[in-house]
Amino acid sequence: MSPTLRATRGVLCQFCGVEKPPELITDPSGEPADAAPGAGDLAELDELVGRCTACPRLVEWREEVARVKRAAFRDEDYWGRPVPGFGPSDAEIAIVGLAPAAHGGNRTGRMFTGDRSGDVLFQALHDVGLASQPESVSLHDGLRLHHTRITAPVHCAPPANKPTPAERDTCRPWLVRELDLLRPTLRVVVVLGGFGWQSLLPVLADAVWQVPRPRPKFGHLAHAELPATDGGPPLHLLGCYHVSQRNVQTKLMSPAMLREVLERAKDLAGVA
Ligand code: SF4
Repeated sequence: MSPTLRATRGVLCQFCGVEKPPELITDPSGEPADAAPGAGDLAELDELVGRCTACPRLVEWREEVARVKRAAFRDEDYWGRPVPGFGPSDAEIAIVGLAPAAHGGNRTGRMFTGDRSGDVLFQALHDVGLASQPESVSLHDGLRLHHTRITAPVHCAPPANKPTPAERDTCRPWLVRELDLLRPTLRVVVVLGGFGWQSLLPVLADAVWQVPRPRPKFGHLAHAELPATDGGPPLHLLGCYHVSQRNVQTKLMSPAMLREVLERAKDLAGVA
């Protein structure tokens, strides 16, 4: 998908002579605020996102995780780069989390792929007819989404799953442009978790939707209808508890609850 080069060897430091780890990205796409508006379609946007190095802390972390690995995945070649959105360019529904997981998307290169959250999410998407198969294990597993695009306000795995406000703001133009490109068909955004909800509201305001004041509050099945400033149809915002392993284990969230949200999203989007 991306022409990004994966260096096969490290480079020797000219000062200390120690071999530094290879850089995963050798041709950065530039600052998101400059690069994102020029993306002509989602394929171009995804390619640019995949070459972003704008947040030094996150670049260091994602590559460190890719080098050290988790023992269970020690034989795998980690992605270790920003994780672009996934799904068709004419999707009516977007599903927005917060950021890729260190050993999930940061390992496999696809959102919610290869971790426990993804197991729950894709099973439910398949159950309601929005995914071609119930499992999402790798970039090459043949999975296709129907009517649905999965993305995030932050495209790199952050330490402790917590991006800083500055990192979130730096990444924002990628999602603003993604929603602009989806605009002709997009009718519903399902937001997984309160952090994703808080991060998404300014993105929507930077795109073409009016966010009411006071801002709509996050909750499971919370629903807000946002008018558009371009004269087009409104956007339905739907809250959903995150499908994290912890939420599922503590029964705050269940597959049935997720299916209910997805069915509601289909209804609001007019997807049969
Ligand atoms: S979080 Fe976003 S802006 Fe920061 S490096 Fe990753 S893709 Fe770039």
